[in-house]
Amino acid sequence: MDDQKYTKPYKAHVLVLPYPAQGHINPMLQFCKRLVTRDIKATFANSVFISKSMHAHPGTSITFETISDGYDDGGYEQAGSAEAYLEMFRIAGSETLADLIKKLDASGHPVDALIYDGFLPWALDVAKQFGIVGVVFFTQSCAVNSIYYHVHKGLLPLPLSGKNVSLPGLPFLENWETPSFVYIYGSYPGFYDMVVNQFSNIDGADWVLFNTFYELEQEVLDWVAKLWRVRTIGPTLPSKYLDKRLKEDTDYGINIFKPNSSACMNWLNSKPNSSVVYVSFGSMAELGEEQMEEIAWSLKDSNFNFLWAVRASEQSKLPSKFIDDPTLEKGLIVSWSPQLEVLEHEAIGCFVTHCGLNSVLEAICLGVPMVAIPQWTDQGTNAKFVEDVWCMGLRTKADEKGIVRRGELECCIKEVMEGERGREIKKNSSKWKTLAIEAVDKGGSSDKNIDEFAAALAQSHR
Ligand code: UDP
Repeated sequence: MDDQKYTKPYKAHVLVLPYPAQGHINPMLQFCKRLVTRDIKATFANSVFISKSMHAHPGTSITFETISDGYDDGGYEQAGSAEAYLEMFRIAGSETLADLIKKLDASGHPVDALIYDGFLPWALDVAKQFGIVGVVFFTQSCAVNSIYYHVHKGLLPLPLSGKNVSLPGLPFLENWETPSFVYIYGSYPGFYDMVVNQFSNIDGADWVLFNTFYELEQEVLDWVAKLWRVRTIGPTLPSKYLDKRLKEDTDYGINIFKPNSSACMNWLNSKPNSSVVYVSFGSMAELGEEQMEEIAWSLKDSNFNFLWAVRASEQSKLPSKFIDDPTLEKGLIVSWSPQLEVLEHEAIGCFVTHCGLNSVLEAICLGVPMVAIPQWTDQGTNAKFVEDVWCMGLRTKADEKGIVRRGELECCIKEVMEGERGREIKKNSSKWKTLAIEAVDKGGSSDKNIDEFAAALAQSHR
């Protein structure tokens, strides 16, 4: 019998490595909180740059460490291109990750498993080098990853030919409904390589985790489960918004941007139920000036109350006449919102979103109908599911310049807020909300998977 197993106050030690972006850090950190409640020790490795800029208060016993992406003073922005960034990250990351594992080993807390972001497949090689369990964590949907897998295998040759894509476990997709890196072949070669290379060594991973829940993507999950040891562990919202079993888990705990919380909440408190359109495009999307202008005037013309999160770096694109408009008492613009609190507020009637997966999952868990304005990467595919599979919202149509015009957006907002389809969408929204909560609550599909995973980790404890 291994004595050490019984002297440590935990059953196993995991090291967790996210891709350094808000939408990746949040779900992986949340997953750590679920592991901690199962007596797993979690060490979370941010990049040096992120650790300098984040506002962290995770409120649990997660330990923070750093590794280097090679750009300690500016992160991705400093690199100049995705290609340069990802290549440097692979080199500096492999080295500093190995150093961190050695350091943790030497401190008397050897690492039993490495849970790494699918965007960083080289991390699996490091795990193997140390003989520890390798766990890939996908922060994009199973559907999107299945498409990339087929591209990687040459089963979906690019550039796409024909008009449609038909893949196992997925609805029939028009070409433009596939991720932008697939549909607009060559648009972002660095990111394209990254998403496709996620599958370069996946057969060597001991576990494949998805931040989704079984009921949400059943068909495609059944299909990928034939390939790997797949488990769904999401949605990874703070427990407060789901099962409420983790009393301390009331927010994500790390914010790269600081939210204007009291301004948002005070303003929402003064608004009637279901009267506000909340608009946000997440942490990365950069909209063109023309698109910003169309959104601005459609919000004004549709005459609903609106709360719009426009990041500081995007605000100069707002039409000046719009900001100064004295008739604009119906709107509030903030640089970053406490999105979960906002979506939970009863004043919110719909969510105009870029359909980043976190935003979509948040809307699902909080039962908020969506109007989709996808921008790039996986967002168009997520939007397809929002409209046609989950029936939780409407997609706007862009014109030949790729711009969603004010009339189109206004129409979709009106339909969701007060139209016939809106009523159907609201019904579906509350159905999905219930299913999401059940998945993470005691005995639910994700809860059981996390139990199983934690128990297996305890077996591999050194
Ligand atoms: N978010 C937020 N405040 C904002 C806008 C976004 O807290 O004003 C959060 C949101 O709740 C979500 C994340 O930022 O968790 C965005 O992730 P998503 O996958 O939707 O988009 P990405 O930023 O990766 O494009």
